[in-house]
Amino acid sequence: VRRNPGEQEFHQAVREVLENLGPVVDKHAAFADTEIIRRLCEPERQIIFRVPWADDEGRPQLNRGFRVEFNSALGPYKGGLRFHPSVYLGIVKFLGFEQIFKNSLTGLPIGGAKGGSDFDPKGRSDAEVMRFCQSFMTELYRHLGEYTDVPAGDTGVGQREIGYLFGQYKRITNRYESGVLTGKGLNWGGSRVRTEATGYGLVFFVDEILKAADASFDGMTVVVSGSGNVAVHAVQKVHQLGGRVVACSDSNGFVVDEDGIDLELLREIKEERRGRMTDYAEARGDKARYVEGESIWSVPCDVALPCATQNELDEDGARRLADHGCRVVAEGANMPTTPEAIRVLRDAGVSFAPGKAANAGGVATSALEMQQNASRDTWTFEYTEERLAEIMHSVHDRCLETAEEYGSPGDYVAGANIGGFIRVADAMVALGLV
Ligand code: NDP
Repeated sequence: VRRNPGEQEFHQAVREVLENLGPVVDKHAAFADTEIIRRLCEPERQIIFRVPWADDEGRPQLNRGFRVEFNSALGPYKGGLRFHPSVYLGIVKFLGFEQIFKNSLTGLPIGGAKGGSDFDPKGRSDAEVMRFCQSFMTELYRHLGEYTDVPAGDTGVGQREIGYLFGQYKRITNRYESGVLTGKGLNWGGSRVRTEATGYGLVFFVDEILKAADASFDGMTVVVSGSGNVAVHAVQKVHQLGGRVVACSDSNGFVVDEDGIDLELLREIKEERRGRMTDYAEARGDKARYVEGESIWSVPCDVALPCATQNELDEDGARRLADHGCRVVAEGANMPTTPEAIRVLRDAGVSFAPGKAANAGGVATSALEMQQNASRDTWTFEYTEERLAEIMHSVHDRCLETAEEYGSPGDYVAGANIGGFIRVADAMVALGLV
């Protein structure tokens, strides 16, 4: 805490991992005798830079850009960019730290990183977003490369932003280096299923949890927070598997739609109109209820999928979920559940899947995009989705087997932290702890 003052979210993420590492250090002398844990918590490189740009009125604007290259023991740095006014170093470091373990758990050759800016794309024109992205990349390009660091999207960074970033990279370097960014459009080097991957992967992961308890999504009631990329595709896959999503939200409020969220309408409002949940409620008339100033976790459900932002599910929310008989909580967002809420869920016997395992499908499919770029190949939707499902299956099993081996059977948090740690730590030792 003294070394990284004020970086609250980073402290929270590190604490959660360290709490689980006791049994590993006891068992593996090589990890205990080295500075490996201290080194894991120290990013290999942190870049902070000025992003000057001009708005549509020609007024000068200024934002701050970040890229934290945390760990490259397993492969090139890999992790998304977030554009949101709340972004500061503590957020980028928490996300980058989590990313190391998540990427390790996928079994793919990717290191951990994260980046972004305090730029707020909300209410900005396409031209403003484009100028911002061009200025951001004008600094960042020198740190990237298909073998060095490969960013993707995250909150506030979708295909539009990736396009502007990639265009500027191409222009500055004079290289059509497809493997330098993931989340690209299909006709300029993107992969099928990447857009859907985090939400789909999350639901595949929950499906594995349900199967392990001899259950399935069929007939289950589900609540999904958020209405962005992860949330929308989680809703879609839940419906495909026979469940019913009855509520979703944005940062102002949530809608309850007992017939099940109308996915086509939701997508039209969010993706085409860039609208709000109020627009959804209005379009649904009597069928949906819009609620503001209350927690979405008050809506009864069998499965809860927080897919919006960090620390959105607190102790009170967790208690309500448990009281209503919720059976599974799985994180689509990064660290949406507070430590107190996790304790409540655990005590109530609710299965809890942490983001570093449950939302790993996004980065895993980014790695599949890199594979396609490297071989100049494009895979079909069906084949790519199958690969994603296999990866989520193996992440699930790795968590359970590791939890069992280290004395915490059924504990997905311990399984994810320990499983992710061992692969990275082994590689760090082999590479001479650099
Ligand atoms: P989007 O920008 O597409 O959507 C974010 C959603 O969360 C929006 O509905 C937004 O509402 C809501 N939201 C954002 N901030 C808040 C807040 N402070 N309170 C309540 N709601 C909020 O982002 P993604 O769907 O891509 O990402 C969502 C989460 O998933 C993030 O934690 C991200 O790190 C994580 N994630 C994303 C991956 C990906 O592939 N995209 C991969 C792995 C994890 P509003 O419009 O009102 O801001």
